[in-house]
Amino acid sequence: MIVVSAKRLFTPLETIDDPLLFIDDGIISAISSRAHRAIPNNSTLVDLQNSVLAPGFLDIHLHGGAGIDVMRSALSELPRLNRFLTKHGVTAYFPTTVAAPLDQTCQALSRLAEAIELSGNGALKNDLSKDNLQAKPVGIHLEGPFLSHKRRGVHPPEYLLEPTVKTFDHLCHAARGHVRMMTIAPELPGALEVIAEAARRNVLVSIGHSDAQLEAAQAAVQAGARHATHTFNAMRPLDHRDPGILAEVLAEAQLSADIIADGIHVAPEVVKLFLQAKGLERSVLITDATAATGMPDGLYQLGPIQVEVKDGTCTMQGKLAGSVLTMDRAIRNAMAFAGWSLQDSLRAATLNPARAAGLTNHGKLAPGVAADFVVLGPEGEVRNTIVRGRGL
Ligand SMILES: [Zn+2]
Repeated sequence: MIVVSAKRLFTPLETIDDPLLFIDDGIISAISSRAHRAIPNNSTLVDLQNSVLAPGFLDIHLHGGAGIDVMRSALSELPRLNRFLTKHGVTAYFPTTVAAPLDQTCQALSRLAEAIELSGNGALKNDLSKDNLQAKPVGIHLEGPFLSHKRRGVHPPEYLLEPTVKTFDHLCHAARGHVRMMTIAPELPGALEVIAEAARRNVLVSIGHSDAQLEAAQAAVQAGARHATHTFNAMRPLDHRDPGILAEVLAEAQLSADIIADGIHVAPEVVKLFLQAKGLERSVLITDATAATGMPDGLYQLGPIQVEVKDGTCTMQGKLAGSVLTMDRAIRNAMAFAGWSLQDSLRAATLNPARAAGLTNHGKLAPGVAADFVVLGPEGEVRNTIVRGRGL
C-alpha cells in the first residue's frame, strides 16, 4: 500500500487538511486526515509536503494537442497527446469530432473506439506500461454533424447534416457504443427526435452551434438535452427582449453548461457572469483545444480543416477555430476572472463534467475509484499528475 500525505486535499466537495490518501493496487482505498488515522507499518509513505491534491481533470471537449489531431492521427500517435494532457493535469478526456465527410468521421470514430477499449483493457489487466499511466480517452464527443449553418463556426458547411435517428445510429455504431456526448442545434428539423433517442442511450445531449429561439431550446430540454456547448460561442447572442437559446442555457437549472475560459473566446467579465449564472454545481470548464496546443505558432489540422495559430489565437479565415488552452490554465483563469477559489474552480474541471456525462468513477477522490489525481502548488499550478497511483 502507498500512503500519500500533503497539505490539503479537495475531493472536490470536501476539504481535508493534512490528508492521507491510501492507495492499494492503483485504487483509492481510504481518505482521511492525519489526525484520524495512523500510517500502517507495511506501507510506503510519500510525503508531498505543501502540495494540494485534487482529482485528475476531465476535459469533455478536446480536438487535440501536441501536434496530434484526434480525428486524423493514427492510434500509435495518441500516446503523445495523452502524455501532453497528463502534464497539464488531465487524466481523462472525450476526444471530440468536427463535421467531416461521413465515412471519414466513421473511420475516426472506429479508431477512437479502439483507443478507448485499449486503455480500458490496460487498466483492467493492470498493465503498467508507460502508455497506461497517462491521460485516457474515456468516451467520444460528437460535435456535429447536426449543427446550424448560421452558427457553424468553422465546421465546413458541406459536411453539416440534418439530424436523423438513422445517421445518429450509424455514428454510434461506428463508435461501438463509445459516444458519450453530442452537440446538436435543437432548432434543426428532426433534432428533437434525435435528442430523445440520444438521451435514451445515455448520451449527454448538449445544445450548441445553434441559432435557436427560446422555445426551441426549451423543447430540447423537454426532449432530454441536459448541457450546453461552449456557451456564448457559436450561439445566437442574448438580447434582453429576444432571449433565445442563451437565456435558457444560463437560467435553466436542468442544464449544466461549459465555457472556454481562455479570455479570448469569451471576455473575462462574461466568464464571470457565466460562472455566477451556472453556479458551483453546473459550471463546466472545457478547453476545445486543437492540435496546435503546446506547439509553436503555425498551421495545424483540425479534422478536415487547416487552422492558423498566432499569439495564442487559433483561427481559420479570421474565425475562431478551437483554442490552445490547457485545463490547468482554464482553472486558474476561472480563479482570476471570477474570483473563484481553487477548490470551486477545480470542481468545474472534475466533478461537474463527470456528473454531467454520467461518469460515476471520475472527477472525484473517493474510496473505490482509481487513484488518478493532480498534485498542485498553492496557486493551482500542476506539479505532478498521478494515474492509477503510479509515478509517485
Ligand atoms: Zn470544438
